[in-house]
Amino acid sequence: MFGVPWGLRPDGRRPRLVDTPGESHAWLAGCGAGAVDPQLVVRAIRREAADVFDERAVIHCAALDVTPPPISLIDARTRWGSCTPAHAGRPASIRLSWRLALAPFAVADYVVAHECAHLREANHGPRFWAHVHALVGDEKRHRAWLRANGADLHAILPKG
Ligand SMILES: [Zn+2]
Repeated sequence: MFGVPWGLRPDGRRPRLVDTPGESHAWLAGCGAGAVDPQLVVRAIRREAADVFDERAVIHCAALDVTPPPISLIDARTRWGSCTPAHAGRPASIRLSWRLALAPFAVADYVVAHECAHLREANHGPRFWAHVHALVGDEKRHRAWLRANGADLHAILPKG
């Protein structure tokens, strides 16, 4: 997850990612009891994704000097994220695809930074991209990675 390989460990308990310091991979536990249940795998990945997205948004929003908005998870085919800036008394909000957890960390982090930067600039103008560059550097390779591999992220644990 986020570029770190993980294995499945069905143990009948609640879905969770088990950190294994010193090992080259993590374990996704609680993905069934015996047979692996894809729904439970998705649930465990979503939980981990939500934690990482929240953590990264707090960091990016601090750098942008904006309040971190609530983040909700989506499973959209056509977009990896979206941002609704605060408007007419409504607070801002960000939506991110949980499938970004299946991408390398830097790619997922770019999308989080992209949506956070929209809290300052609700467009894709030069000032918007200047914010993105300040947060994550050159974003072109991350966009290229998503173009090249996006379909694969949707092929894993397809939406039921
Ligand atoms: Zn955008």
